[in-house]
Amino acid sequence: MSTTPDWTTIRQDFPLLERQVHGKPLVYLDSANTSQKPAPVIAAVDDFYRQHNANVSRAVHQLGSEATALYEGARKTLARLIHARADELVLTSGTTFAINLVAYSWALPRLKPGDVILLSRMEHHANIVPWQLIAERSGATIRVAELTPEGALDLDALWQAMTPEVKLLGLAHVSNVLGTINPVADICREAKKRGITTVIDGSQAVPHMPVDVAAIGCDFYAATGHKLCGPTGTGFLWGRREHLAAMPPFIGGGEMIREVRFEGSTFNDAPHKFEAGTPNIAGFVGLGAAADYLQGIGMSAIQAREAELLTYATEAMQSIDGLRVIGTAPGKAAIISFLIEGTHAHDLATLLDLEGIAVRSGQHCAHPLLQAFGITATCRASLAFYNTHAEIDALVAAIHKVRKLLV
Ligand SMILES: *Cc1c(COP(=O)(O)O)cnc(C)c1O
Repeated sequence: MSTTPDWTTIRQDFPLLERQVHGKPLVYLDSANTSQKPAPVIAAVDDFYRQHNANVSRAVHQLGSEATALYEGARKTLARLIHARADELVLTSGTTFAINLVAYSWALPRLKPGDVILLSRMEHHANIVPWQLIAERSGATIRVAELTPEGALDLDALWQAMTPEVKLLGLAHVSNVLGTINPVADICREAKKRGITTVIDGSQAVPHMPVDVAAIGCDFYAATGHKLCGPTGTGFLWGRREHLAAMPPFIGGGEMIREVRFEGSTFNDAPHKFEAGTPNIAGFVGLGAAADYLQGIGMSAIQAREAELLTYATEAMQSIDGLRVIGTAPGKAAIISFLIEGTHAHDLATLLDLEGIAVRSGQHCAHPLLQAFGITATCRASLAFYNTHAEIDALVAAIHKVRKLLV
């Protein structure tokens, strides 16, 4: 386990990274938007449809039990990835659904006028908009925890913001724009002392570092499968057992019931009572394979690899005139949001695409964050363990080239 992974061989697991765009080798630097998928994940989905396809938890036939075993096996693998119990893991279509589930099923019945929902300035819209909808319906209000100029949470301000009216804290583990890694364990400890329920958005953390929900001490933890080398339309919500047991179902339908009568229905136990309807079975089989694949490499090894790539990229980008990096918190994850004086982020990203380089430009589903920095868009290069030093060199060379056309 302590041997260094062979990153050259690991990269070859990703067939899409071999392709060209606009006649140039693809340089994929948009993994914070969605990750690429390794061959074992593609093979697991393919094998499911070729060999095991059936609905889950319904049929007594052989294929039905194989499909159920694969689906529940994926739940166990994912639970292992975050050091959780499988019966505390609700499989969802992604982070967005996971947070909405907490909002509608946990928060809406509990919040009342005068209560406060505390959110950080760096939240993704998926961890803002559900709370706005809940605030509107419950009479609660939203309070914002602000950031330092480097893009770290201002912890003194956060402690001050945790007044007795605060019932819930929604916080990103890692910012999708800044790369900032929040000290979630410290924050959840302080929140717990004050009776505040914590909802951590782990979308950008689970793919890039070891995550242990028990060590973090949160109440809920959400993540999305497609950024975790898995298929789109997959994700999960981890919740403390006592919370899940106390929460009413959010979506009603098949799979989630024990008995249905027109006078009233009784519900299955968690996590199944939150999984109404036929789930994305093949997707979760793929996501289980992805979690196995990542654990095979080792999350600590992935974290170290990406930290090294980030250092290399940050130094290489120093050679670019007029470069401004948005988000410079110490120990950040491998996400580089940047601007180049005299250019617009969209123009830069468009010209980089012609060089084969995929970066994202825009607001990254975080309007309030960009507003705080007084900007309307950034270019974002986000790295994953499958990227190479040569790709970072290609990014820097391409920026030098296209800058000449724009400035
Ligand atoms: C991607 C992302 C989300 C939303 O994930 P979906 O897959 O679209 O549900 C939420 N929060 C953060 C921090 C993200 O990066």
